[in-house]
Amino acid sequence: MACLAEPVTCRRDHIAPVLGLKAGREKPWQFTGPCPACGHGGFSVTAPDQGSNPLRHIWHCNCSRDLCDPARVRQAMARAGVSEDCLGSYKRRAAQASPGGEAAVLREALREILADPKVRAVADLKLRVQEVIEGEPAPADWAGFLAFAERAGIQRSKRYEAAARWGRRQRQL
Ligand SMILES: [Zn+2]
Ligand SMILES: [Zn+2]
Ligand SMILES: [Zn+2]
Repeated sequence: MACLAEPVTCRRDHIAPVLGLKAGREKPWQFTGPCPACGHGGFSVTAPDQGSNPLRHIWHCNCSRDLCDPARVRQAMARAGVSEDCLGSYKRRAAQASPGGEAAVLREALREILADPKVRAVADLKLRVQEVIEGEPAPADWAGFLAFAERAGIQRSKRYEAAARWGRRQRQL
């Protein structure tokens, strides 16, 4: 299950302190410091461009020597103690970057699901599997999430419970 904090809060409270990153003065949503993979400076974690299904965070190693691969940096962040829940879902980019190809990505994704202590109900399991199938995290918005849950084969009443468990809120008009 994903981290429920807003991405910028997640970066500030869950990621930056673990990695020793500091908020930018002009871009307070961006955090910079040493690269968790190579240890050199110039590393940044920031907000992605907004798209239909934006990534939770993006990160760059700007060190001219290593230019660490994002997948490698992700592993290094996890090793440093950043929760996988905060890093966002395995994504298109990870799938392309994987040396083992799609089967390896799938195995890794399934391992992540089985290791996820927050999968408490069959519905959660179905949602996580649907994330792997679609290659995207479950939508953050209420309606999108319910449609996603329907595609995952979750029965109607359970979709609402799952939405609440996953921190999706129905907007009050
Ligand atoms: Zn690096
Ligand atoms: Zn480096
Ligand atoms: Zn977080």
